[in-house]
Amino acid sequence: MKAHSEEIRKQVLELLRQQRSQKEISERVEVPARTIEDWAVEWRKDGTLVGYKRAGQEFTNRAKQMSNGYYKTIRKRYLGMRWTDKEAGRTFGFSNPTQAIHYYLDESGNPRPCIYCGRRPDAGKVWGLDRIDSSLGHQPGNLVPCCSSHPENPKLSCQLSKSKFSLRSWIEMALMRAYGHEVPSLLVDMRMAEILSLAKELGEKGQN
Ligand SMILES: [Zn+2]
Repeated sequence: MKAHSEEIRKQVLELLRQQRSQKEISERVEVPARTIEDWAVEWRKDGTLVGYKRAGQEFTNRAKQMSNGYYKTIRKRYLGMRWTDKEAGRTFGFSNPTQAIHYYLDESGNPRPCIYCGRRPDAGKVWGLDRIDSSLGHQPGNLVPCCSSHPENPKLSCQLSKSKFSLRSWIEMALMRAYGHEVPSLLVDMRMAEILSLAKELGEKGQN
């Protein structure tokens, strides 16, 4: 069997603590799943992983507390964005769901409205996060809450309707529709600044 560095073993232990699947761990650290299972057995026997398992449970409990009853929907959204970044080979900027909770919920623990249209999600749900710069992954500073469904047609959701355009052109068109005439570029700039400032504010919150 190939010898693995203490560094790798520590990394595997940490990932087991986070209750990641052996398949995922195996892919991430490039250690065969069989070896990981052997280590897990060893760590459970000597007590290392029992303690960590408890830590994992405490982590989940804390995350649930912070999520104000929205943990399930937040976790689903979180895993979804992690997956799409992985599929697209983009950098995912979070290491656990608790770091992202404030993107989905405001200070009072209520779901944030869509930054673009102001609509609120259905009861018990949260909106997903829109990447402002679509060349980047889901990273702090690049994310705002954005609606992804609409009672009549998902194409009317901001997420889908903006997907083929630059944010600026799409915002300009929305403002023109609202006002019924062309709008000065200053107005578009102001709207853009609001959106970017929320993205920045949310990104900085995560660092505390
Ligand atoms: Zn919207």
